[in-house]
Amino acid sequence: MQHAYDYDVIVIGSGPGGEGAAMGLVKQGARIAVIERYHNIGGGCTHWGTIPSKALRHAVSRTIEFNQNPLYSDHTRHLRSSFADILAHTENVISQQTRMRQGFYERNHCELFQGDARFLDANTIGLTHPDGSVDRLTAEKFVIACGSRPYHPADVDFTHPRIYDSDSILNLHHEPGHVIIYGAGVIGCEYASIFRGLNVKVDLINTRDRLLAFLDQEMSDALSYHFWNSGVVIRHNEEFEKIEGVSDGVIMHLKSGKKVKADCLLYANGRTGNTDSLSLENVGLEADGRGLLKVNSMYQTAQPHIYAVGDVIGYPSLASAAYDQGRIAAQAVIKGEATAHLIEDIPTGIYTIPEISSVGKTEQQLTAMKVPYEVGRAQFKHLARAQIVGMNVGSLKILFHRDTKEILGIHCFGERAAEIIHIGQAIMEQKNGGNTIEYFVNTTFNYPTMAEAYRVAALNGLNRLF
Ligand SMILES: Cc1cc2nc3c(=O)[nH]c(=O)nc-3n(C[C@H](O)[C@H](O)[C@H](O)COP(=O)(O)OP(=O)(O)OC[C@H]3O[C@@H](n4cnc5c(N)ncnc54)[C@H](O)[C@@H]3O)c2cc1C
Repeated sequence: MQHAYDYDVIVIGSGPGGEGAAMGLVKQGARIAVIERYHNIGGGCTHWGTIPSKALRHAVSRTIEFNQNPLYSDHTRHLRSSFADILAHTENVISQQTRMRQGFYERNHCELFQGDARFLDANTIGLTHPDGSVDRLTAEKFVIACGSRPYHPADVDFTHPRIYDSDSILNLHHEPGHVIIYGAGVIGCEYASIFRGLNVKVDLINTRDRLLAFLDQEMSDALSYHFWNSGVVIRHNEEFEKIEGVSDGVIMHLKSGKKVKADCLLYANGRTGNTDSLSLENVGLEADGRGLLKVNSMYQTAQPHIYAVGDVIGYPSLASAAYDQGRIAAQAVIKGEATAHLIEDIPTGIYTIPEISSVGKTEQQLTAMKVPYEVGRAQFKHLARAQIVGMNVGSLKILFHRDTKEILGIHCFGERAAEIIHIGQAIMEQKNGGNTIEYFVNTTFNYPTMAEAYRVAALNGLNRLF
């Protein structure tokens, strides 16, 4: 690297994408600066997205577990938590995460600046500090990791006190008895679980014809059933005509002629990349209509010295992937090429109640591809561990090639699914024929564990072969 600039690399954003890039760069000896707009590091992931929603979800799910267990709860003893109560737990987790991540930057001598970054020219960033003063920082290369924010259509008044998005819902200032959630993607479904778990009435308005259509259909059907069973009202194939904010709530007028009224609305339909304030025109870059940047396999934009990672490049828009993309981009920035690549089968973890997690192909994909696959299933209710902890709802499904026995997909529904999936994922990723379903019958698992689901599902699947 030349030393004509203040830094070798400037990273914009301190979410998982920016952190992965920053740590990868300093470990390779680069002089870097990280610019973060918010007064704390960690990004949307720590402050408005992954961490708060998972902490809320955990608190709700433990309350439900407690209330359903006759050992702890009966008609005289019943735990009741409000959104405000569980928010306090969330703040505690956020501050632990922030302190820990701040430590990573300090230990690795990364220069951190608080302020808004925008490009002034190909190698210069204008850094606007919170007091309005502006500094110029130069670097040879850049990594844009500025993330995304909730999409705000022009005809929805987000200044109305009862209309929230997935960021502002964390400042919910009243206790709702009834909420409309518009958008039944991952965020909408996760918040539907959280509110329903707090005994709030939920109307979930889905613009599509089924929930989370990218999932294996059985998983999506199971979620629909559990939502229905817990009292969530799902309306598929609906779009809003008008959203009317009134003094005591919100009325949603649907194009189908229906009207839904609730105490508040969580609008969770789509996200936009945070590229609008970067002055990309000054470096000859252009984002698409959703504010996203195009990159090549090394996360290089159309300008070879500018890289982009995380939500700002779109799919898969996950914290897990953003961190890895940052590390891979750091390698490419320094070495001119990246030997590491994002894995092909990125697992999906959906923290609804119950939880869902998948890796690999769905039955629908395999059928369309005409792959002769077989299915092995285990129901949680038949596992000793699940019976001990009262986790009767759930199942594990392994899809495998009926000739080679190669594992092609794993789909898990139920509490801890996002953890359980990783056992199967580790085997699925094995090379040289080690990725077959037979692994699960030829090994000894701890007993009683949820991992036993793999052995049960494998035996079930192998027994179907003839
Ligand atoms: C409700 C919700 C739940 C989620 N749950 C999960 C989950 O369970 N698992 C999962 O893997 N993912 C989840 N995600 C997605 C995950 O949060 C994102 O994929 C991840 O945060 C993306 O990381 P990032 O580094 O690209 O961006 P971010 O984490 O958004 O960080 C970007 C940072 O850049 C800063 N910034 C932006 N513009 C500028 C600028 N011009 N100058 C300086 N700084 C700037 C921002 O302030 C921000 O701090 C969830 C998201 C939401 C909203």
